[in-house]
Amino acid sequence: SGTLYVVATPIGNLDDFAPRAQRTLAKVALIAAEDTRHTARLLNHLGLERPMMSLHEHNEAQRVEQLVARLESGDDVALVSDAGTPLIADPGFVLVRALRERGHRVVPVPGPCALIAALSAAGLPTDRFLFAGFLPAKGGARRARIGELAERAETWLFYESPHRIHATLADLQALLGERRIVIARELTKTFETYLQGSAATLLERLASDSNQARGEFVVMVAGAPPADTEGGWVEGATLLRALLAEG
Ligand code: SAM
Repeated sequence: SGTLYVVATPIGNLDDFAPRAQRTLAKVALIAAEDTRHTARLLNHLGLERPMMSLHEHNEAQRVEQLVARLESGDDVALVSDAGTPLIADPGFVLVRALRERGHRVVPVPGPCALIAALSAAGLPTDRFLFAGFLPAKGGARRARIGELAERAETWLFYESPHRIHATLADLQALLGERRIVIARELTKTFETYLQGSAATLLERLASDSNQARGEFVVMVAGAPPADTEGGWVEGATLLRALLAEG
């Protein structure tokens, strides 16, 4: 039977479209796309015309049987989202899980992903990190989530829209104080910008230049420093003395 290719597409700069990703889209019998009009523009840019089917969060469950039938008839299918890697804060999980459960072949065709691009140039520790998707839209739930994440020792990051960046930074200021934050905006595009500092500093930057609040964001937060039992910060030398005393 056929293969589902999970194909990453550019997050802004079309030159980031990997050759294998392009070849895969050119050869499959069908492309399942989050938004067929959006993907039609991308295919047009490549000079490709392929049959498409929409697959988004509202119809993904119904599409599974149709796509299984296509694969069982021997057709290869590609899955794409509007930008970046499918399933990463994008549709596709329900389909891929169903295909794996039924023993179908699913092949990733890797490429751009905003969270990985953002981290790779942020200068925050990346040996371990936690990707939190999108934070809840409602204020109370969002602050509760930030409260949980604030305890984590590793770098954490999330996707954010321009509509909520101010409210989110205000919450981060209230809950994290001086903690170091890095914001990556418009990655791979003309106005790509990295801003860094405390939430308060970043709010000032956004207030002084309204262009900085436009576009797409990845917000990255330094992990919590280790706290001692009195709730202050443990310095290296203090920690070493404590460990030696215990030995
Ligand atoms: N699947 C995509 C990926 O692999 O990154 C993410 C899709 S998610 C629906 C869209 C969010 O990703 C945006 O709201 C923004 O937070 C982030 N994003 C996508 N493209 C970006 C870019 N060029 N620069 C910064 N953030 C971006």
